[in-house]
Amino acid sequence: MERSSLISGFYKLTAKERLRYVKEFANLSEEECDLLQDTGSLPLSLADRMIENVVGVFPLPMGIAVNFLINDVDYLVPMVIEEPSVVAAASYAAKMVRDGGGFHTSSTPPIMIGQIQAVGMKDPEVARQRILEAKELILKNANDQDPVLVSAGGGAKNIDAKIIDTTVGSMLITELYVDCRDAMGANAVNTMAEAVAPIIEHLTGGRVYLRIISNLATKRLARAHCIVPQESVGGEEVVDGIVYASAFAEADPYRAATHNKGAMNGIIAVILATGNDHRAIEAGAHAYAALKGKYTTISKWEKTEKGDLRGSIELPMAVGLIGGAVKTHPIARIAMKILGVKTANEFAEVLAAVGLAQNLAALRALAHEGIQRGHMSLHARNIAVAAGAPEDIVNLVAERMVKERKIRMDRAKEIIEELIAAD
Ligand code: NAD
Repeated sequence: MERSSLISGFYKLTAKERLRYVKEFANLSEEECDLLQDTGSLPLSLADRMIENVVGVFPLPMGIAVNFLINDVDYLVPMVIEEPSVVAAASYAAKMVRDGGGFHTSSTPPIMIGQIQAVGMKDPEVARQRILEAKELILKNANDQDPVLVSAGGGAKNIDAKIIDTTVGSMLITELYVDCRDAMGANAVNTMAEAVAPIIEHLTGGRVYLRIISNLATKRLARAHCIVPQESVGGEEVVDGIVYASAFAEADPYRAATHNKGAMNGIIAVILATGNDHRAIEAGAHAYAALKGKYTTISKWEKTEKGDLRGSIELPMAVGLIGGAVKTHPIARIAMKILGVKTANEFAEVLAAVGLAQNLAALRALAHEGIQRGHMSLHARNIAVAAGAPEDIVNLVAERMVKERKIRMDRAKEIIEELIAAD
């Protein structure tokens, strides 16, 4: 077979036929092919309907973060992630927060923004006025597209229009504000934005190009805050260390990126477990962090008058209980059942609390013992496995590497050889 990635009609093949092609191309073994198509709880037929050109599935571990008390309700939090120590850290932080009464949360209504871009108007300001005057017509047309959403209490609720200056001239951007209820809403909003485009063209005399949801969901925010007693977090020095760490991140984008990544570790793990769109959440969070013109943190830690720690987080949270893969992926359905949230708003608030917990755990480790200690013992186990340690000596190899502070593949291999020779 000629080794080329230019394959016409690849999509028309079955998953097994596609894999045969990939096997040849990448010189996969029979065993590797079997692993790819050992689909467990996600049948190949279902996977094949979820995305294109499917050849197999990619399993990741699902863990449960415990100890979460949010608005006086207990939650078990399912998390899917490849990185060790995230689930343990979330559980540990939730326990500390519980000592201070747990997390308290709030959220805005689930309003998403759809954008319709019009260009080439003679007078953009006149066009803008026309759009605003036609609000009821535009809203009716949008809502006609989704009677199910409207009957669930959602739908297009308002509009706005703004003129922006760009490198290729001014544009008129009409924004549709759509209450998406328990859906993430991208399909719903995109459908509405496309439907109203001809009206916008008619009203403005311009040409409409893009008609698409914005992932910077500033009207769909989730918030959480908590108090952590000083003694629970490890004393006054740790409180001070966390406050300094937070201020550092607030002031410096290089630190803020990592600070926010720590919070997103938890949020994205839950998003993955529940079949939601993690790219949308990441995009929204980081764009929100930069909204004031300088990238900063989505969370903040302060010292209370009593000397305890007070943390808060706020970020866009476009999540759904229906739509996308949430209802089609069998494990996502179970994850949702474990989480037990009843509305997308409740879900968004739980996610904010998880982000705050994850952020706290990372900052505490950094301010207290350094991140490596806890992280490295789990990392060392992965290195030991990757170096080929038989199962019965994985822990031994990992412990030796941690003790020596040499967590490296070459050292793992040496220790494995030594242990096997000594056996
Ligand atoms: P969807 O269209 O599958 O489901 C939403 C629909 O469900 C609503 O339009 C409504 O008709 C119906 N519905 C029934 N009961 C409802 C209730 N209680 N609340 C709300 N709606 C109810 O999904 P969606 O949420 O519109 O879109 C999500 C998908 O879009 C995700 O898979 C995402 O990855 C994808 N997507 C994202 C982007 C982006 O983020 N930029 C762009 C395109 C597509």
